[in-house]
This record gives sequence, structure tokens and C-alpha cells, in this order.
Amino acid sequence: MTNLNSSVENYHHVIDEMRAHSKKHKVDMPTLVCVSKTYDQQAIQPVIDAGARVFGENRVQEAQGKWPDLKAVTSDIELHLIGPLQSNKTKEAVELFDCIQTIDREKIAKTIAKEMKAQNKVLKLFVQVNTGSEPQKAGILPDDALEFIKYCQTDLDLEIEGLMCIPPFDENPGPHFALLRKLAKEADVEKLSMGMSADYLTATEFNATHVRVGSGIFGARNYS
Ligand SMILES: *Cc1c(COP(=O)(O)O)cnc(C)c1O
Repeated sequence: MTNLNSSVENYHHVIDEMRAHSKKHKVDMPTLVCVSKTYDQQAIQPVIDAGARVFGENRVQEAQGKWPDLKAVTSDIELHLIGPLQSNKTKEAVELFDCIQTIDREKIAKTIAKEMKAQNKVLKLFVQVNTGSEPQKAGILPDDALEFIKYCQTDLDLEIEGLMCIPPFDENPGPHFALLRKLAKEADVEKLSMGMSADYLTATEFNATHVRVGSGIFGARNYS
């Protein structure tokens, strides 16, 4: 569907679907994070012009190449880092991003805390949970999540807004969304970032507060 329509039409379509679905299932409508990785400024600007203000990128360096200009023109953009963060990129990440969704280990949590202090900037922070316990995937394991969140809150004095997950690619996402929601409830954190192009409506039913939609808006990505 996505390649035939423009990104602006896709954006409105996703919003309309989310609105209808939230109403039908009597849940709050999530915030749409438009995932613009691999897309350049020219591709992104029309979606900003259509009203989108929350965007996601998965690489610090790529984001540095396009977002300072876009943010200079539209000051109320909220930029989310949704990919893994290396500690040697933390300074740049804290400078550029408004939210980091991928905190998943002590070292990175510590480095972010230190950088936020140094820059006197408070970011919105999410802990990423590896709900499928996949060996190759980033995220804290579900069994370790509560202790890790406590550590961030108590030892590092970080305000953790919520949890984020990327369910295993070949599984029904529902149980993963349910697990993330359960962990958030136990940890007493409010926000849930879950659901991508293929399953953002399912995530909506499971009380997602943020869905991250890339190809469903911008079209299939070309990584070459
Ligand atoms: C790329 C990406 C998305 C968006 O994926 P689509 O399937 O294109 O919607 C969402 N979340 C994360 C963490 C991503 O890296």
C-alpha cells in the first residue's frame, strides 16, 4: 500500500486508523512516532508540514546529519532515539534528542545521567525490554527489568517515563505487548512504546502510549 501513496497520505491514514481503533477499543490514542531513518530532509519535511511533530531515528550520526536543520525551522519537534546507543555517542545523543527509548544497561544509563547533568538538559527516558529474550536483541531481559528500572530511578536519579519493546519479528506481538504492559504496571511507570507499521493497531489495543511507524508512512526503506 505504502509505495503507491504519498507519505503525507500515509501519515493521515495512520492517524485516522489509530483514532478509529482507539475509539472502538475504548483506549487512549497513542502518540505517533514517525520513524524517518534512511529518509532525507526532503522526504521528511512534507510530513512535518502535514502536522507531524514526533519523529524517531535509530542512529545518532544519521540523525545529526538532518535534524539540526529541520529542528531549526520547526522548533517544537520532539526527536526520539529508538536505536541502540553506544556510550561514546552519548554526548551527541543528549544534545540532539529529546527522548531516548533504548536504555538497557547500567553503563549507558550512567553515561546518560552524567551527560544530562553536564548539559543541564532533561530528556524523556524509556527502558528497552527484550520481551522475547532474544540473544541478538538489545534490551534488558524481562526478569531483570524491575531491578534495573529501580537502579536507574534510585541510584542514578533518572526519571523513567516508560518501557519500550520490539517483539520477535516472527511471533504474534500481543503477548509481548501484554508483558511490557505488565512490567510497566509493576514498575509503576506510565508510558509504553510498542507497535510498528505491521502491528500499531494491535499495540493500540494493548494501551500503547507511543507507536513507532516508519515504512507505513515513508514507504519501504532502501538500505543501499
Ligand atoms: C525502524 C524501526 C521502527 C519502524 O519500523 P517499521 O516497520 O518501518 O514501521 C520502529 N521501531 C524501531 C526500534 C525501529 O528501528
